[in-house]
Amino acid sequence: MRSFRGNIIIDNEERMRVLVVEDDKIIGDGVVAGLQMEGYAVDWVEDIESAETALETNDYNLIVLDIGLPDGSGLDLLKKTRGQKKDIPVLILTAYDDVSFKVKGLDGGADDYLIKPFKLEELTARMRALRRRSEGRADPTLEVGNIELDPAAKKVTKDGKNINLGPKEFAILQILMEKKGKVLSKAQLEDGLYGWDAEVESNTVEVHIHGLRKKLGKEIIETVKYVGYRLNEDN
Ligand code: CA
Repeated sequence: MRSFRGNIIIDNEERMRVLVVEDDKIIGDGVVAGLQMEGYAVDWVEDIESAETALETNDYNLIVLDIGLPDGSGLDLLKKTRGQKKDIPVLILTAYDDVSFKVKGLDGGADDYLIKPFKLEELTARMRALRRRSEGRADPTLEVGNIELDPAAKKVTKDGKNINLGPKEFAILQILMEKKGKVLSKAQLEDGLYGWDAEVESNTVEVHIHGLRKKLGKEIIETVKYVGYRLNEDN
């Protein structure tokens, strides 16, 4: 849908521009839709040749790069890009769960990699991390109202005071803070908990929202009837 050879979408907004190089239509579609929802401007190409053209004509903030491409290996494109001293962060998508392969990718100048299949949330989280690194922002602390959350230190404070949260409470609060002002459905919050449990119990989100309200104040998280939850920005 965002094939480079098709329409070139002119986008004058100051948004992060991502080049997705992926020949699998289903994965590409999912990645592009997910990144657009996150607010990225996305160009999608399906082979190395188109990727090279895209890189010559556009400035990208990030590249999401598949390895197995119809006209060669993504690693070759990576090498070439690095050879031209382009220091765009590159996140590799690979189907191979192989240590030697990962080493090759990282040695070749990749900044991170994800093994297929992956969760879109994981991709966007890694991209945020790459983005912070490339922008040289050492402090990724999230701040909403009087609440501060430090994802790296796993620390939350309210009015400067430490608040002890369980890991799932922390994960839910982090998602709500990252998406402040937006209503998140129960399913979206459950997705964020993926990895903690093989199975998320049907009432897990409610239980932890309850816990968060008890620790941070009832008004912090609004329930939006039939839709989901939203972090109250002027808590
Ligand atoms: Ca492929």
